[in-house]
Amino acid sequence: MRTSTSRRRRPHIAGGKPVWLFDLDNTLHHASHAIFPAINQAMTQYIIDALQVERAEANRLRIGYTQRYGAALLGLTRHHPLDPNDFLKVVHTFPDLGEMIRHERGVARLVAALPGRKIVLTNAPEAYARAVLAELRIERQFERVITIEHMRDRQRWRAKPDHAMLRKTMRSAHVSLKDVILVEDTRSHLKNYRRLGIRTVWITGHLPRRPNADGNETRLPGTGRPHYVDRSIRSLKSL
Ligand SMILES: [Mg+2]
Repeated sequence: MRTSTSRRRRPHIAGGKPVWLFDLDNTLHHASHAIFPAINQAMTQYIIDALQVERAEANRLRIGYTQRYGAALLGLTRHHPLDPNDFLKVVHTFPDLGEMIRHERGVARLVAALPGRKIVLTNAPEAYARAVLAELRIERQFERVITIEHMRDRQRWRAKPDHAMLRKTMRSAHVSLKDVILVEDTRSHLKNYRRLGIRTVWITGHLPRRPNADGNETRLPGTGRPHYVDRSIRSLKSL
């Protein structure tokens, strides 16, 4: 990461041992292009079929649970009888994934150029995450791919931005939180995790430009850099 003339807090890696913690969707690739619309549609249909509700109610549940829990799955399993593994598989399986993916040019080179350890931390399931990373040709650059299946504890499913989950997964990866630089598009995750003392990079280049109704993060004009964001970047090129 380049140094900056700004006096505001920013990730500073000189002399340190950065551990890059990358989100997947809308961070390492442009999920809002085709994949998020497809996932949202599949989730809504799954909820309609599993819970026997109308489309409007299914959308309301999906969006509400995503905002409240960080992942729709957590609310669905907490409040309804539903097979979590079947849900994850059905709504994340795309035979034409390769054609749906959009990403920054040279993403493999950009990630490879970063010094330090690299880990993926995503609320998506493992099969999907690994398929996306394979399409991007960057799977081998990450020493771990931590997905929602790995965030579970004995009692329940967990997801970003759960504090206990981050502490536990980082402990098992032998990572000290003070070394972590989180690169992520979702502001609520950055905000919650900044409180643990990690450094935060908000990547905005893949966010939808207008507020939308699908429960995903939106980029509003003129909002600037929130206080819990050490650096705001549009592209991985700026890391
Ligand atoms: Mg994301």
